[in-house]
Amino acid sequence: MKLLVVGAGIGGLGAAVALRQQGFDVDVVEIKQEFSVYGVGINHPANSLRALRSLGVLDETLGIGYQFRNTTFLDEQGELIVRLDSAMGGDDMPANNALSRLDLHRILIAAAERHDVKIQYGKTMRSFTDTGGEVEVVFTDGRQEAYDLVVAFDGIKSPTRHILFGPEHDAVYSGFGVFRVTLPRPDFLDGTRVYQAVGVKAGFLPLSVDSMYMFIVTPDPAHVIHRPEDFVDVLRERMAPFGSLPGEVRDSLTSSDDIVYSRISDVLLPLPWFRGRVGVLGDAAHACAPHLTQGAGMALEDAVVLAECLAADGTLAERLRAFEQRRYPRAKLVQDVSRGILESEMGITEATWGATVQGMRDHLAEQMGGIERFLDAPA
Ligand SMILES: Cc1cc2nc3c(=O)[nH]c(=O)nc-3n(C[C@H](O)[C@H](O)[C@H](O)COP(=O)(O)OP(=O)(O)OC[C@H]3O[C@@H](n4cnc5c(N)ncnc54)[C@H](O)[C@@H]3O)c2cc1C
Repeated sequence: MKLLVVGAGIGGLGAAVALRQQGFDVDVVEIKQEFSVYGVGINHPANSLRALRSLGVLDETLGIGYQFRNTTFLDEQGELIVRLDSAMGGDDMPANNALSRLDLHRILIAAAERHDVKIQYGKTMRSFTDTGGEVEVVFTDGRQEAYDLVVAFDGIKSPTRHILFGPEHDAVYSGFGVFRVTLPRPDFLDGTRVYQAVGVKAGFLPLSVDSMYMFIVTPDPAHVIHRPEDFVDVLRERMAPFGSLPGEVRDSLTSSDDIVYSRISDVLLPLPWFRGRVGVLGDAAHACAPHLTQGAGMALEDAVVLAECLAADGTLAERLRAFEQRRYPRAKLVQDVSRGILESEMGITEATWGATVQGMRDHLAEQMGGIERFLDAPA
């Protein structure tokens, strides 16, 4: 089979490697002129690490990242609410590994190149026609090529999803945004720390021995647009309630810190994700709020499972249906739980604070344990 992968993000690069591992021919096109990702961090829980192992890049990512098992929830002044140890992973696999997105991308690009994948930057599909027997693609550089299958990992704003399934499946803004910045890691930060205040959350993740990554989740009406030159002032203002680590970080932020702002949106495309020989995967099919740190893991699992299903017996339609049936329940669980956590954290009021904290102490370990058991099972 000859496949076109649209988008050289995390999922597209993973798919290129996984498909080459199964012996398929793969072309990759990426609309950006060159590779660029935000210089912030990303966490991979054990299920994402298993997908990276399957792609042959686990050791490299572990070598460069920071492994941890614990997540500590605190109030805005740093008083402990509850500390959880993840049940994911095992003897051969850490519960979590966080690393810089730049490093992850470099590792995935190098893996694709080792498998003779040529990534064509500054190029995408201008149009495609599914003739039933193949897909005829016309590229933006005027070239034409026929493929057996087109898989679009073209992100949350996926133009391919829009063309195949219409505007009713565009991503929906949650009403919340997130500021992110990479900073030096204090010695005591050996796992995730989440500081919860009414209406705002501060999180910290170790990324390496030297660095950590802070994220601040905050409400923003849809019409609000922050200018990059205002990020530091807006961030300081949003972090006003905090003492402890977030308070210290707030007071030391400067305009030269590389602060990134993103809106939190999500989309879950109902099945099918393929129309004939063209389909959408990764964020294009199921972008979620970042609260379980599972978006990239779901895209990487899509990549590995797609290649496995395509290498199995059956007609192409049967193999694609098998892929969708395997992937939809995991994508839906991640989507529902991530959205639920976002809404419940941001919905805390002064009146519900006490009951919320008690509920976290009483039930969070059991709730997270159930979700982790599901995610830790084979993808
Ligand atoms: C604040 C935040 C924090 C997050 N933290 C985590 C985390 O800790 N762990 C985790 O697992 N996930 C996390 N995620 C989610 C994760 O980043 C995404 O789920 C993941 O990047 C999805 O991979 P993808 O390949 O599907 O899409 P993307 O990584 O978005 O890649 C899409 C690619 O397609 C390209 N493209 C777009 N349009 C076209 C076109 N027409 N033609 C060709 N190319 C095109 C884009 O330029 C891009 O390179 C987070 C997300 C956010 C917003």
